[in-house]
Amino acid sequence: MSGNSLSSKLYQSACEIIPGGVNSPVRAFRNVDSSPFFVRAAKGCRLWDVDGNELIDYVGTWGPAILGHAPIPVIEAVSEAAKRGVSFGTPNPFEIEIARLIVDWVPSVEKIRMVNSGTEATMSAIRLARGFTGRDKVIKFEGCYHGHVDSLLVAAGSGALTHGEPDSAGVPHAFATQTITLPFNDPERVEQAFAAGGDDIAAVILEPIPANAGLFFPRDGYLEFLRDITARHGSLLIFDEVMTGFRVAKGGAQELYGVMPDLTAMGKVIGGGLPVGAFGGRADIMDQLAPDGPVYQAGTLSGNPLAMAAGLAQLHEMEKQRGWQRLEEIGTMFESGVREAMAQAGCDYTFHRVGSMFCLFFSGEEVFNLDDAKAAAQGGAFKAFFHHCLKSGVFLAPSPYETGFLCMAHAEEDIARTIGVIGEALAASRR
Ligand SMILES: *Cc1c(COP(=O)(O)O)cnc(C)c1O
Repeated sequence: MSGNSLSSKLYQSACEIIPGGVNSPVRAFRNVDSSPFFVRAAKGCRLWDVDGNELIDYVGTWGPAILGHAPIPVIEAVSEAAKRGVSFGTPNPFEIEIARLIVDWVPSVEKIRMVNSGTEATMSAIRLARGFTGRDKVIKFEGCYHGHVDSLLVAAGSGALTHGEPDSAGVPHAFATQTITLPFNDPERVEQAFAAGGDDIAAVILEPIPANAGLFFPRDGYLEFLRDITARHGSLLIFDEVMTGFRVAKGGAQELYGVMPDLTAMGKVIGGGLPVGAFGGRADIMDQLAPDGPVYQAGTLSGNPLAMAAGLAQLHEMEKQRGWQRLEEIGTMFESGVREAMAQAGCDYTFHRVGSMFCLFFSGEEVFNLDDAKAAAQGGAFKAFFHHCLKSGVFLAPSPYETGFLCMAHAEEDIARTIGVIGEALAASRR
């Protein structure tokens, strides 16, 4: 932002009292050598900043805004619920309604518990897997981000990657030693890890479609392989579907690939923009949770009526509008436009998309793991591209390691305008 804009003044004040001026690091725009704009309002696929700039948004509040911003059904549901009380601390009927919906929609989930963020969901799923198996070690994959859980902040993606701090200070060494980190899409390494100490491995956790180090896909048979090897060793398979859940399909990546994990972490879309996460899976495992079982897990605001009402309204609206089918149409339109723009600008780059999620790698090489994604992010092309888009009214995530999101509110005209801007930006970034 330019030095005398209202956003830059607000950012200066924020920095005096909030570390880095932000409540989540990737918002600081450090990876694009800039500072953030402050948003005054958002509606549909648009954001308006405090300086009056209008932007077409492809960040979608980092995933939750699948209908677009401020969708009327969600606003109405939240307002109605609020009139009856914003939090009770005792059970409310919305909790059963959303639990029923999740159990019906997500193939592997028999029981579900609500929490307040994706981080809480993965943290709780890991604790439950350890409690259930009586084992301590966890396998995770390079570039898979599971929130800022101590033992999972090893070679993590998203903000941890952007900031070049894959291992956070403050995570005890003893915790990190309980985490085995392997490259994604490499079955041999998983086999070796299980051969070396399979009896100690409580769980394998992964994003079935990794989307926090760019966006890449499991090779054919990889998810099935992980399903099989964990089952053979009595370890649990945990899908972190915080990003992909209710996004790539009604039942998430597990529906798309037809692979059933033991436990699933959810978040983002499920909360309709309010702070919600959830974890669920096999009933015999979930029954190990307190108060029935010995694994403690709790939350003052878990199952909050406003949050449940917002999530339910968003999910019902998606179903009513056959949203996933529509997002595939929008995604197809967007992809063909981007590919055409690349061809015209003479850029032989790698473009990945699944449904409404997409990522452009600034290299022609294939991307199947974190190392590939890092190699593609070398060189400054992304920064120039990002700033050109932003100046022209298109807001993409301010990091080459993030996934872009289309939403139900992206109309054909918005896509067409965006493709025009992307074409110019690609040409400009090559100069
Ligand atoms: C965003 C994300 C998380 C963390 O969720 P928060 O709500 O930010 O704590 C965990 N896993 C994945 C795959 C995510 O994309």
